[in-house]
Amino acid sequence: MLFVNDAFSENLILISGAGIAGLALGLTLHQLGIPFKIYEAAKEIKPLGVGINIQPNAVRELFELGITENDLDNIGVKTKEWALLGLNGNEIYSEPRGKYAGYFWPQYSVHRGKLQVLLLQKILERVGRDCIYTGCNILGYQKQISSVKVKIIKRNGEIESADGSVLVGADGLHSRIRAQMYPMQPSVHWGGAIMWRGVSWAKAVRTEASFVGIGTDKKRVILYPISSPCIKSGHALINWIAEVTRDNMEGQDFGDWNKSVDIDSFVNNFEDWRYDWLDIPALLKKADTAYEFPMIDRDPVPTWVDGRVVLIGDAAHVMYPTGSNGASQAVIDARELGSAFLKNGVGELALKCFDNKLCEPVSNLVLRNRNAGPFGILKIIDKRCGGIFDNIEDIMPKSELSDFMARYKAHAGFDIEHLNSSKPIIHRLN
Ligand SMILES: Cc1cc2nc3c(=O)[nH]c(=O)nc-3n(C[C@H](O)[C@H](O)[C@H](O)COP(=O)(O)OP(=O)(O)OC[C@H]3O[C@@H](n4cnc5c(N)ncnc54)[C@H](O)[C@@H]3O)c2cc1C
Repeated sequence: MLFVNDAFSENLILISGAGIAGLALGLTLHQLGIPFKIYEAAKEIKPLGVGINIQPNAVRELFELGITENDLDNIGVKTKEWALLGLNGNEIYSEPRGKYAGYFWPQYSVHRGKLQVLLLQKILERVGRDCIYTGCNILGYQKQISSVKVKIIKRNGEIESADGSVLVGADGLHSRIRAQMYPMQPSVHWGGAIMWRGVSWAKAVRTEASFVGIGTDKKRVILYPISSPCIKSGHALINWIAEVTRDNMEGQDFGDWNKSVDIDSFVNNFEDWRYDWLDIPALLKKADTAYEFPMIDRDPVPTWVDGRVVLIGDAAHVMYPTGSNGASQAVIDARELGSAFLKNGVGELALKCFDNKLCEPVSNLVLRNRNAGPFGILKIIDKRCGGIFDNIEDIMPKSELSDFMARYKAHAGFDIEHLNSSKPIIHRLN
């Protein structure tokens, strides 16, 4: 239900980008009764991408936005387990996830594009078509005394401008808004890892809803189902990421989520990764398409705010996907920004409060994920035994493993006790 607040009606918010961050913000602003317009560069919003995870902290906020368990069940799977295995398939560490771990909310593994389309549908149902302008690339902004003006180029080449009280740059990895805010920003940071990503129909392993990482620090495969098993075949849609860290960093192009490559060009890296419970080369080869993407992020910046302009989502803090929290943080940003508007009105003070709360801790998370996030365990295992072991207790005791994971979760904002006992960022008003 709408929380209509007339005090906000003059305060139009312009959003650049209809990704997860921009759409979650649109739904939040609608919930608060704050008018907004979303400009999206793509001509059409199509369900692009492969799998992502949504952590319980973000699932709770989606529920508070009126997105139901049923909605999320339709686009993904409730993750039951996070498991890390060594090169020979022996278990390093596993832990339950979501409600199975005691959170009040599930963790979901979903198709990124389906989540984007779900958020879009909710906006269209609740607000109508007039708030989303596709084929509109926001080129930059100009600060006015008490507003901000943006320059937009449409697909037919027409240039337009629009005025708002606030501009939110939710325009992702190659954000133009961030580039204007930081004209001297270093280009994307790459540590040498290449990811090949795809989806294949196959039998899900372990709990049938497990997020599984196998391998070493320099070469690993991650897989998890993003659909329930098909009743007839028993096969589910398995999202996989095959990853190799290279020493030679030349000739890498940075960051097109949709660059497809031939599976034969990389599957040889994993040729002997066959276990009696999983044949990795066979799994990879079953995919229709594979996408290549370097594991990149950007150096954190000291503030996400420039007057009445603010960055959220990947535009603010693109991070390595090692902690599965890029999309979750995008949702949290949208909710925190909404909450700041609710408390401070639509203007510079709200942006400052949002920035003060999130910029530093999330920037630290970017650096933590750059250092492998929860997969940092593999660095330790590699050092101690090269990734091959019979009994993990001889290499890294359970208590050391659990402490490592607990520290990561606390920094990433999904410590169980803290999350369960805290209030949602914005309550749903029924
Ligand atoms: C096509 C695509 C596929 C992806 N696939 C995956 C995946 O498979 N796995 C994964 O972990 N992450 C994927 N991501 C990234 C993931 O969605 C984000 O890390 C996370 O969800 C944060 O979302 P965001 O909204 O901040 O950024 P994004 O999801 O990147 O959304 C940014 C949006 O802004 C739009 N945009 C960019 N520039 C402008 C401009 N100048 N004016 C107007 N609009 C603009 C883009 O078209 C896009 O829709 C993908 C992103 C995209 C765009």
